[in-house]
Amino acid sequence: MRLQCEVEVRSRLLPTCGLRGRAKGAHALLSLGRQPDRPPGRGGPSAGHSVYLMVCTARDRAGARYKANASNLKTFLAAVRLAHRGTDVEALPLSVLVPAKTSEVEKPKTKMIITSRRDYPLTKNFPYSLEHLQASYCKLARVDMRMLCLKKLRKLDLSHNHIKKLPETIGDLVSLQELNLHNNHLESFCVALCNSTLQKSLQFLDLSQNKIKALPVQFCQLQELIHLKLDDNELIRLPFKMGQLSQLRFLSAARNKLPFLPSDFRNLSLEKLDLFGNPFEQPNPLVPSIQLKIPLTLLESAARATVNYRIPYGRHLLPSHLCEDLEVAKTCQCGNACLSCFIQTTVTMNLHYVAHTVVLVDNMGGTEAPIVCYFCSLTCYSQFLDRYLQSNR
Ligand SMILES: [Zn+2]
Repeated sequence: MRLQCEVEVRSRLLPTCGLRGRAKGAHALLSLGRQPDRPPGRGGPSAGHSVYLMVCTARDRAGARYKANASNLKTFLAAVRLAHRGTDVEALPLSVLVPAKTSEVEKPKTKMIITSRRDYPLTKNFPYSLEHLQASYCKLARVDMRMLCLKKLRKLDLSHNHIKKLPETIGDLVSLQELNLHNNHLESFCVALCNSTLQKSLQFLDLSQNKIKALPVQFCQLQELIHLKLDDNELIRLPFKMGQLSQLRFLSAARNKLPFLPSDFRNLSLEKLDLFGNPFEQPNPLVPSIQLKIPLTLLESAARATVNYRIPYGRHLLPSHLCEDLEVAKTCQCGNACLSCFIQTTVTMNLHYVAHTVVLVDNMGGTEAPIVCYFCSLTCYSQFLDRYLQSNR
């Protein structure tokens, strides 16, 4: 659509710079359109659906382009159409012609880095447009609720503070991809966060240098995680279903209190793994922990059948504690499920089996760690033992 008319272009930025712009009307061709497509292979963002307003004058025939926000443009054009139809001026959605506020003409602020308590804003709100916020060394004891209104936030760095607990509402930050909580006083990571929208967005999580003892089973629902740092905590175990983090590529849990790895750990496929400085136990498959009742209880038989035959269940059918138990059913080496009747032992796994690059586990040059195995029956355990004894003969 093109329109020939007198156009006067005023820079809205000039008044904010303390200058007064004196524009003169010029005869121009006004076009409303899309950016012509780039030839393929040139790179750069494609024009997509962006609409531009272009002003061409005798002096500038190539024209100046102004990107138009589609919804604002619609309202604007609707007003023009109403005027064109001769609608009563009183009924038009007109604006009062007043100078713009600074916030209306300034480019929205997307990044804010605060690295001292002195610079921390106490009375002023954070700009709503922020995509990257860092507030480190601010002695924060909790997450500031004002941060949780920043819906565009993609990167939140609260490292080096004194945060003890995370609010569940962090999960409302729908765009959050990176969360850095390095060096705080966290003692847990709550289940509500594992069930939140973070499942779909969170790719980087740094919980290193805190006081976390265990992560919930639901932690493995954070399916988009690529980078996870858990170093220097008090972890006595890793999440039971760790192997479900199929996108995970970088994992570090150095200097924790891990005696062994969960059996699911062997399903991971990592680029880099660091488990240095954990008190790993020496595996002894000949001394298993036996929690096997024969004959099996009715509950155990029913639970095994439910998992093995993939019978659908839910909280509308079963008590919720049973559902929780079923969610952490163990898998025997034969592929069958077991709930609370099983034989458990640890075996040695070379960590290169799950990771391309492995940081040494100890100062002795080892890259091996103990991993848990479960057996559903005496038969399965004795078959394993035969193989084990043969290979160690
Ligand atoms: Zn078995």
